[in-house]
Formats: sequence, C-alpha cells, structure tokens
Amino acid sequence: MSDILLEKSNIPEALVRKLQLQYGEGAGGILAAFEKERPVTLRVNRLKADEERVMSELARFSPKKASFYEDAFILENAKERDVEETALYQEGCIYLQSLSSMLPPLFLEPKSGESILDMTAAPGGKTTEISALSGGGALITACERDKFRFERLKYNVEKQGAPRVTLLNEDARNLSPYFRFDKILLDAPCSGSGTISPDHPVKWSEKLLSKCVSLQRALLSKAFSLLKSGGTLVYSTCSVLREENEDAVRSLKGAKLVPLEPPEGVPLLPSQEGTLCVAPDGLFEGFFVAKLVKP
Ligand code: SAM
Repeated sequence: MSDILLEKSNIPEALVRKLQLQYGEGAGGILAAFEKERPVTLRVNRLKADEERVMSELARFSPKKASFYEDAFILENAKERDVEETALYQEGCIYLQSLSSMLPPLFLEPKSGESILDMTAAPGGKTTEISALSGGGALITACERDKFRFERLKYNVEKQGAPRVTLLNEDARNLSPYFRFDKILLDAPCSGSGTISPDHPVKWSEKLLSKCVSLQRALLSKAFSLLKSGGTLVYSTCSVLREENEDAVRSLKGAKLVPLEPPEGVPLLPSQEGTLCVAPDGLFEGFFVAKLVKP
C-alpha cells in the first residue's frame, strides 16, 4: 500500500498498519474500498411479499438480484430515502440491509420448529431474516442489551411481521444458564473495520478494538454454554481483523469448525480455512462468518 494513500485518508494509522500486517499487499484494496459508496440493497421479506410484487413496485429503481441469495436485491438508482417512501417499505415487505449482513442467517440454515437465539440482535435485520428463512416457524429468542436499540428491534420485528419471537432487553452474558438452543447466531459487537465508507464516520480505535475483543470472547463462551449438544453456532462480525474473527473463534475450546461453502459472486479475503471473510468493495461490506458445532 502506498504511503500516498495513507496520507490522504482519514483512516487511523494503527488500523492501516494492522491491515498491512494481516493482508500485506491486499490492504490496498481494503483501504480503497473504504472510499467507495455502496448502492442501496434490500431483502424481500417473504413473510409479507413475493418477488413479483417487489419487482413491479420498485421497477423504477431497476432492481437487480444478487447472485448469492434470491431474496437480495441491489438498487443502483435509488437513495435510501426514496425506498423508505414506498408502500413496500412502510408495510414491512422489504428490509434495507447490506448484502454481507444477509450471509450469517443463510449459514445458520434456520428451520421451522427449531429454538434459535439471536444473541445481540438489534436493530433486527438478522432476527427478521432468520424468521423469514424458517417460514415464520422458528422459535426465536432475540436479545439486546441497549434500551434504545432494543426498541428498534421490537419495532422492526413487529413491522416485518415475524412471529414466535421472544424479545429480551438484557446483557446476553447474563442469560439464564438453564436455557438451551438448537442454534445460536452471535452477530457480535465489533470495531466495524469492514464497514468504513464515506457514509459511515470512522469510529475505529485501538481502545474500541480491545474492548470488542474481550466482549466477543465472553459472548462466544456464553453462546457455546447455551447450545444443545449437536447444536450450531454462527459467529459473525463486520470486521476484517483477525483479532475479532479467527482469533476469537480459536479462543473457543471444544467447538468443531464447519467449513463454509463460498457463496456465489461474493468477494473474499484470505481467512482461516473453513471461515469466510468478505472483502469490502463497491458492493459488499467487509464481514466475517464462522460456523461451529458443539459436539
Ligand atoms: N444482528 C443485528 C442486525 O443484524 O440487525 C446487528 C447487531 S450489532 C452488530 C451488535 C449489537 O449487540 C448491538 O445492538 C449492541 O448494542 C448489542 N450488544 C452489545 N453487547 C451486548 C451484550 N452484552 N448483550 C446483548 N447485546 C449486546
């Protein structure tokens, strides 16, 4: 990565150095992606609408289907505000969501009748996706610590018409040790190193990183303790840093890593075998996903 790029950017130098250390020459591509604005993307909420209605009502924005997921659409010609004014949006038939953020629920493969914990759930993009993927049949517990974000979660779950969702406004580290779930999604709070863009002010700092790293490990260990034997845990972050991703997964003793199939058309960074790290670019945010099973 050239020093010219580093001088021009408002990315903290410590983050640039970390990216260079981890990705070598590849760091240049990540830093270049931080300068790009991504188009509006959305997920069709199958609990309320079908593709035909969405395509016809959003036709003026020329929606294009993403290659990896039939419910994901890219609107090159729209601003979020334009979409928010549509009846589809107001009725909860669509959910504005980044493409990368749609991946963890897909790897969780939620089925009707399963008990599923979404451990750090607000504002609810993945809770409502899990519900839709299970046809509304999964028994979901969605937990969120922050009071204000919890209200957003509640609003979105109701608006998207996701049934069988129990909402808990508490610190997931304090969940009852007697709970047991078939599947858990831990979409962990993170430093956000994958989501930097002209629209997102940079909030990354070394202090934030180290706070996230210890919280992620505590949440992972709690998640593992709440899984039934044979249960599945999907761990994700919107960071591309090894400390928050592979190192966090490695810190969990006794879990078996399930290799993930790279989804079609999703750009990837090198990551530990079996895990996926989405490369940020003009379409995708940087994102990490790992799937673990409790023997
Ligand atoms: N999965 C969400 C979605 O797709 O809409 C995004 C989750 S966001 C990456 C992480 C969330 O974890 C934040 O809302 C944050 O307030 C919450 N959080 C942080 N620490 C927590 C804890 N100890 N227990 C529960 N929630 C927590």
